[in-house]
Amino acid sequence: MLELKPADYKAEKNPDWCPGCGDFGILSALQMALFELKKDPSRTVVFSGIGCSAKTPHYLNVYGVHTLHGRVLPIAQGAKLAHPHLTVVAVGGDGDGLGIGAGHFVAAGRRNVDMLYILYDNEVYGLTKGQAGPTLGFGEKTKSLPKPNPQGRINPLLLAFAAGYTWIGRGYAYDVKGLKELIKEGILHRGLAFLHVLQPCPTYNDLHTKEWFAPRLYRLQEEGYDPYVPEGLSPEELDGKMALFQAKAAEWGERIPVGVFWRAEAPTFEERLQAYLPRYPGVYPALGQREALDLEG
Ligand code: SF4
Repeated sequence: MLELKPADYKAEKNPDWCPGCGDFGILSALQMALFELKKDPSRTVVFSGIGCSAKTPHYLNVYGVHTLHGRVLPIAQGAKLAHPHLTVVAVGGDGDGLGIGAGHFVAAGRRNVDMLYILYDNEVYGLTKGQAGPTLGFGEKTKSLPKPNPQGRINPLLLAFAAGYTWIGRGYAYDVKGLKELIKEGILHRGLAFLHVLQPCPTYNDLHTKEWFAPRLYRLQEEGYDPYVPEGLSPEELDGKMALFQAKAAEWGERIPVGVFWRAEAPTFEERLQAYLPRYPGVYPALGQREALDLEG
């Protein structure tokens, strides 16, 4: 049993995000979640795309891979499939995951690889001076835009649901304790978990600030919302669950819910592979045996 302290998950390098950036809270929550789950740093990998959020692996003392813009999900999924014993967390911003990476976001939902994807949503491309991101609403104008946004916003929760993600949650970057619990649940979920994090960018987004969010956020689970979708529901029961999910996922304005929206059971991609590739490793064999495997069955 590893005897590690929270600080053991922190890298020596200090974050260089802007003062007050929501990324600090997400980093702390992820660090604490890995500690509380007693994750072995030598068997944990955090992957990132490109953007301010993509620096996250630099600040954690676990394995980290800083990949390409929009490509974090295929790379993270590939690593998990090749090494199923790893704990894999992918992180990226809304521009990274829902702009250039939107195709991968949808394709990942069809597979249900056992890992967690955390989307840092600040509605802007912070690393490149605050252009409108895919989650900024139509007609909204941040201080970094010369004109109001002429495009509509993507709803990440509804898109994840349509794509087939089996666990869908939303947290808030300044609620580190609540976010930590959501990250833990997402990591423990068997299948692909999607965690949407509302992440204020005080440098470029002066619309959706922590002062704007504070009076609006409420916890779904404190209002009795049950996200669990057991197998074997009747079509009518499933319709009811889906309708409730969609209503809550679409709620945005005077009230904004956070918490777990959807928790369903379905075979993981690893299990599906095992069904028709008998030699696919459920547990990755010792290094050196990899080459001996014939993944064609
Ligand atoms: Fe954070 Fe925005 Fe600064 Fe990027 S630009 S580090 S998202 S505050």
